[in-house]
Amino acid sequence: MTRLVMKFGGTSVGDVERIRRVARIVAAERASRPGRGLAVVVSAMSGETDKLVKLARDAGGEGLDGGTVGGPGFDDEYDVVVSTGEQVTTGLLALALRQIGVPARSWQNWQIPVRSDAAHSKARIDAIDEKGDLARSIDAGEVAVIPGFQGVTAEGRITTLGRGGSDTSAVGVAAALKAERCDIYTDVDGVYTTDPRIVPKARRLEKISYEEMLEMASLGAKVLQTRSVELAMAQRVPVRVLSSFIEPGEASDGRNAGTIVCDEEEIVEKQIVSGVAYSRDEAKVSLIGVVDAPGVAADIFGRLADAGINVDMIVQSQSRQEGKQNIVFTCPDRDARRAQDILEAAHEKIKTDEIHIKRDVAKVSVIGIGMKSQVGVARTMFSALAAKGINIEVIATSEIKISVIIDSQYVELAVRALHTAYGLDAA
Ligand code: ASP
Ligand code: MG
Repeated sequence: MTRLVMKFGGTSVGDVERIRRVARIVAAERASRPGRGLAVVVSAMSGETDKLVKLARDAGGEGLDGGTVGGPGFDDEYDVVVSTGEQVTTGLLALALRQIGVPARSWQNWQIPVRSDAAHSKARIDAIDEKGDLARSIDAGEVAVIPGFQGVTAEGRITTLGRGGSDTSAVGVAAALKAERCDIYTDVDGVYTTDPRIVPKARRLEKISYEEMLEMASLGAKVLQTRSVELAMAQRVPVRVLSSFIEPGEASDGRNAGTIVCDEEEIVEKQIVSGVAYSRDEAKVSLIGVVDAPGVAADIFGRLADAGINVDMIVQSQSRQEGKQNIVFTCPDRDARRAQDILEAAHEKIKTDEIHIKRDVAKVSVIGIGMKSQVGVARTMFSALAAKGINIEVIATSEIKISVIIDSQYVELAVRALHTAYGLDAA
C-alpha cells in the first residue's frame, strides 16, 4: 500500500476559509492517485499556540518559577494546554473534508498512539504503531487528520515536541507509515538559494540534500524545523516543501513543484554551492593572551555551556607571548555580555590579558555538497568579499560549508555578491 503524508502549518490553516482551501488541496491529491493512503498532519491555527502559551504562563505564574518552560511543576500541564490548538484544527479540517465529500476523521495522539519520551515541552517521538487502527483506516481510503506537535508518554500523559514541532511530527508519521514522501505545505513555495527579500534573483531549488538543508535550517532559513530534517535524514524520508497558497491547477507553471529534500545520491546535478545563508544577531568574543595549558579550553567552554550559552565558531591561535594563546569565539548577541561576565569572573583560572566583545557582527555562509570534491570554493568566496571591500573577521569551514564573520552592516552586500559569484542568480 503506498501512502503519503501531507502537513499544513499554522498560516495555511489560519482561518476557516484557509482550512477549506487545504481540504480542496487534499481532495485533489486524493483524486490524483486513487488507492494511495493519505495522512494529513496539521498545526494549530496561526497565533493560537502563542495565546495558549500565554494562558499557561499566566495561570502557572505564582510560585512556580514564574510559569516558565523548564520551571518546576510547570511543563506537564503546559503541554496539556498548548497541545489543544492542534486538536481544534484536526476537527475543523475533518469537517471541511467531509463537507466536500472526502471521507475523513481526526485522530488524537493518544488514540494512535504517538509515543514520546517524558521530556515535557521538548519531547521526542519514540514510536508510532504502524500496524494499528490508523494504518487500517488510511488504507481503507479514509483521510486521517492528525495533530502535529505532540505525543503521549508510556504513562498516558500528553507531551509537546517544542515550538515548530509539527514538521517533526509529520516526518515521524511518514517514517512510521513508510510513506513514499512527506509533503510540507507552507507559506513559501520551496527552498530558495537565499533570502529572496535580499536577493530578488534568488531561485527556488528543485532539490536539496538533507545535509545542506540541515545547514540552512540551523543557519536560520526557517522553512523547516531543524529536528524534522535530522529525523528525515535518519529515517530516509523524502520531504517536499511547497506552497499551500497555490490551489491545484493554479500554479503559474501549471504545477506546484516545491523543493524536494532528499538523499545526496538522488541529486544528479550537484551544485558546488546550493545556497547562501546568513544570520545577524551574532557577537564575537576575543580572549587575548589566555594561558596555554591543557584543560583551559575545557574550562572556558564548560563555564559557557553551564550557563546555557550556545557557542558557535571557535578559533584558537598562537600568541606572540610565550605560554599564551588567543581564543576567539562567536555566540548569540544577546548572550555576549553574560559570556564576558562569566569569563571575567574566571580570571584567576584562565588569566586572560584582555577580553574584547564585538557586537553587530553577522555570519554569512555558503553551503553545498559539491564543495566536497571541488577546489577553489573558498577562494571564490574570499575574492567576492574582497572585491566589495568587506573585511573577514573569522573563518570557519566544514565539509559542505564555509562561514565568515563580517560587520553586520555589510550582510546584504555580501549575500548578493556571493549569490552572483557562485552563479546562483536567476536568469
Ligand atoms: N503550533 C506549534 C507552534 O506554533 C507547532 C507548529 O506549528 O509546528 O510552535
Ligand atoms: Mg512551522
